[in-house]
Amino acid sequence: MTILKFMEDFPDEFSCREHFRKSREKQGIVCKKCGCKKHYWLKAKWMWQCSTCNFRTSIRSGTMMESAKLPVHKWYLAIAFMTFTKKGISACELQRQLGHKRYESIWSMMHKIRKAMGNRDDMYGLDGMIEFDEAYFEVETSEKDKQNLKRGKGSQKQQNVAIMAESIPLEDTKTGTKSKQCRYFKMKVLQNHKSDQIDQCVENNISDRSIVFSDKSKSYLNISDYVEVHITEISTRETTITTLKWVHIAISNAKRTLLGIYHKIKGKYLQNYLNEFCYKLNRRYFGNQLFDRVVIAVSNNNWQFNE
Ligand SMILES: [Zn+2]
Repeated sequence: MTILKFMEDFPDEFSCREHFRKSREKQGIVCKKCGCKKHYWLKAKWMWQCSTCNFRTSIRSGTMMESAKLPVHKWYLAIAFMTFTKKGISACELQRQLGHKRYESIWSMMHKIRKAMGNRDDMYGLDGMIEFDEAYFEVETSEKDKQNLKRGKGSQKQQNVAIMAESIPLEDTKTGTKSKQCRYFKMKVLQNHKSDQIDQCVENNISDRSIVFSDKSKSYLNISDYVEVHITEISTRETTITTLKWVHIAISNAKRTLLGIYHKIKGKYLQNYLNEFCYKLNRRYFGNQLFDRVVIAVSNNNWQFNE
């Protein structure tokens, strides 16, 4: 998908709705009331009707677009702007590009798209050799937090995030040169620095057959209970460019990207921004397909999303 192809394929609201309908049909419509998967398309009403209980599903309901008022065309334009550019776009800039009056609706649409991206990545766990580390992202503090702000590691200005990367060691048999190839990444906001947060994060995001590499930290003591092997190394300048090479590259890229576009991020929205960053990083070789993939993520039929 390029900007020219986009303009050709999606010139108006109708073409976008039609595409969105087909994207949902490819994934299968599930009846909210009875769970039946067989539906008829009611052309005049722009709705599907369940063949068992006659319950009707509109093209937006059950997707990230449910209860959203913006036209599908604007959603498609937003997805285009978010995927065509490597780094992304701020809500303020998108509002300007779309010539839309209200900032809030653009802002909320973009967060829903980021949520859809996160839901998609949550469907896959990391497997194999995994680098694990934590990073601290600066977030805007609320007025209340500012009054009892603590310094250092516990400071509310620094949000703790678990960073995980699949990292496969490679060795050139001719020269003996060792390197590591990265595959998929995950970044998860942690509520605190305690080990139970780490345990839960490892359990939810990493396959139990994996081998995890991390530095020596008290909160990592139980990681070995959730994976095949846990290997620790004392954190040095050397480990950040060898054992934990890819998590560190990802951390600095994520910080640069987020800071470059958004300036100040509220703690409770950080996960959404990280979702977008990881989603695009994990699909860095998708090229033109990225747009379609995000449409699939947004059109995914999951009633729980909007509850
Ligand atoms: Zn039904």
